[in-house]
Amino acid sequence: MHETHCHSRYSGDVDKQKGGTIDDLCRQAVNIGLESIAVTDHLEIQQIMGNIFPPLDNEGIFKDITKAKEKYKGVLEVVYGVELAQACHDLEKTDNILAKYKYDYIIGSVHAVRGFPDFSDMEYSAVPDRILKHAWELYVSELEELADWGNIDTLAHITYPYRYFKRHGRENLINLFEKGRKYFEPILRKIIKKGIALEVNTSGLWQDTGISFPHNDLIMFYKELGGKMVTVGSDAHYPGDLAKCIPQTYSVLKDLGFETVITFRERKPVFHKL
Ligand SMILES: [Zn+2]
Ligand SMILES: [Zn+2]
Repeated sequence: MHETHCHSRYSGDVDKQKGGTIDDLCRQAVNIGLESIAVTDHLEIQQIMGNIFPPLDNEGIFKDITKAKEKYKGVLEVVYGVELAQACHDLEKTDNILAKYKYDYIIGSVHAVRGFPDFSDMEYSAVPDRILKHAWELYVSELEELADWGNIDTLAHITYPYRYFKRHGRENLINLFEKGRKYFEPILRKIIKKGIALEVNTSGLWQDTGISFPHNDLIMFYKELGGKMVTVGSDAHYPGDLAKCIPQTYSVLKDLGFETVITFRERKPVFHKL
C-alpha cells in the first residue's frame, strides 16, 4: 500500500504538539506496513490564511526528508512531495520555489479562489447563495487553469469545497451528484491529455462527508474518458490517520476496472498493480 498525501508538523494547519515529524510519519508507515509514503506539506502560494499558513520551512523539510530517505532505505520508500496550493495565483513565486527544490512529486491543489478565503475558513452564514455559487464556479475554473499550467503530477481532491458546503447545509447549491460530470469534464480531459494523475483523496470517507474527493461517479467518468493514472492518499495530518480508508478505496478502484495505482519518483510515474 502507498500513502501519497499526508502532512507533518511542518504544515501550518497541523498542531505542533500532536503533529508528527517526518520521521514519526515514516515510523508509523513502517508499523502499518506501507511500501511508500509521500510527505506532502502545505505550500500555499498565496498566503490567504497568513496566520494558519506561515511560510513553509522548505530547508527543514528537505533536510528531514533526505535523512529519512537514507534511514528507511530498503524498508520504506520515502517520497519528497509537496502540496502546492493556488500555484496560479503567483506563478513567478511558484516557479522560483519549484526551481529551487527538486521534489519527487507535486500535488496540485486549490483551497481558495481569488477574492475569497480558503473554503475551510469561509464565514458561510455571511455568504449569500449567489456569491457562494460564484465561488464554486471560480473553483472549477481555477482547477482548469491549474491543469492548463500543468506543472503538477496529480490533481488533488477535486470537489474539495463540497465538504464545507455540506457541513454548512449548502450542498444543494451545486448539485454535485447530478452535475458533477458536467462541471469536471473539461478538467478531466485536460489532465488525461497531459499525463497528470487524478488524486482520490480518502479524507471525506474517514471524516464527515461520506464520499472520497472526487466521489465514485466522477472516478468512473475519468475512466470512461480514458484516464488510467490514479493516486490515492488519506490527507492525514497526524500519524495515527495515515492510510485511513486507502484499502477500501483500492477495492473500489478495482471494481471500477482500474488495474494500477501510481506513485511518483523524481516526477515520473511508477505503476503498482492493485
Ligand atoms: Zn489540500
Ligand atoms: Zn493535504
